[in-house]
Amino acid sequence: MKPRIFYTKPSITENDVRLVTDAARNGWGPRCYEFIERFENQFKDHLGVRHAIATSSCTGALHMGLAALGIGPGDEVIMADTNWIASAAPITYLGAKPVFVDILPDSWCIDPELAERAITPRTRAIIAVHLYGNLCQMDRLLEIGRRHNLPVIEDAAEAIGSRWHGQAAGSLGRFGSFSFHGTKTLTTGEGGMFVTNDTDLYERVLTLSNHGRARGQTKQFWPELVGFKYKMSNIQAALGCAQMERIEELIGRKREILAYYREHLGRLPGLSLNPEPPGTVNGAWMPTVVFAPETGITRERLMEAFKAENADARVFFHPLSSLPMFEEEPRNRHAWDIPSRAINLPSYHDLCEADLERIVGTIQSLLGRTDR
Ligand SMILES: *Cc1c(COP(=O)(O)O)cnc(C)c1O
Repeated sequence: MKPRIFYTKPSITENDVRLVTDAARNGWGPRCYEFIERFENQFKDHLGVRHAIATSSCTGALHMGLAALGIGPGDEVIMADTNWIASAAPITYLGAKPVFVDILPDSWCIDPELAERAITPRTRAIIAVHLYGNLCQMDRLLEIGRRHNLPVIEDAAEAIGSRWHGQAAGSLGRFGSFSFHGTKTLTTGEGGMFVTNDTDLYERVLTLSNHGRARGQTKQFWPELVGFKYKMSNIQAALGCAQMERIEELIGRKREILAYYREHLGRLPGLSLNPEPPGTVNGAWMPTVVFAPETGITRERLMEAFKAENADARVFFHPLSSLPMFEEEPRNRHAWDIPSRAINLPSYHDLCEADLERIVGTIQSLLGRTDR
């Protein structure tokens, strides 16, 4: 059997191990927040945002941000039907309802026009998720938000390295959230980040993130409200600091891999890959191929071909509205159709040329071509 190709794997260096070891040995007592603060500062600098709070997950960052916006029972939050459940779950934690709208067929991100049409008097926010590194149409969404006085939130967990006309994904909305799960471009094992340029919102989330204890409070053990416990540990943050030292390299390699797929698959008829419209940079978290219906290539055939090659393949996200706990919205045509003829391709820092050739070859032979 050929060696297995994983779909993703973190890149861990000696320096990463050195910083984590330092945190485990020395990061206690007066130094117990040292790496956390350093990681937050590095991340803020990278994104060009004013405030950042490291969290235990992106889910937690979203939960606190939505809570700080006052979202609660009876409220609606609009988002794309095509997403991982982590973007929707925090809405339900607060007793609010996620309203799922269809995606654009080329970027697989929320359709701004449908988002606007879904606005009701109960709507409290729109969540823009930059799917697989592809950018949402931020100009349109921000304009709709301004017109209807609704905050636009960016779940940028998949968009480290993605840029919209010079601005980093996650820095454009009322707040942004990131994930450092082991599958993401930068990892701390598990972890996340809340970022914002809104100082009042930052202060509210900071209080929420500390079990409701305001930072100016001098009385010990005195929460002012019921908050959350979604903190990142200093040890995890140490890994984040080390990873941030080579963030450009981590993103660069992701982009190289997408470019490779684009070069070898991009011109084949009946197949599309992650787009990168003019003025944008795609952080290329997850290269994805979508086949045109005429090709007859289905998810099942793709999974089979990858299995035979001993390569991991990840299915395109099922529409959230097809899951048992939500109401079905089959009129979200693209969200319901595209997953049946799409697949995520392997992408990680240490993926070698021979592995990439095997992946490309698998897809070319499915399409009945070999141009090598
Ligand atoms: C990975 C991911 C999350 C979840 O992140 P956690 O850190 O596991 O909570 C949320 N949103 C998106 C878009 C993701 O890709």
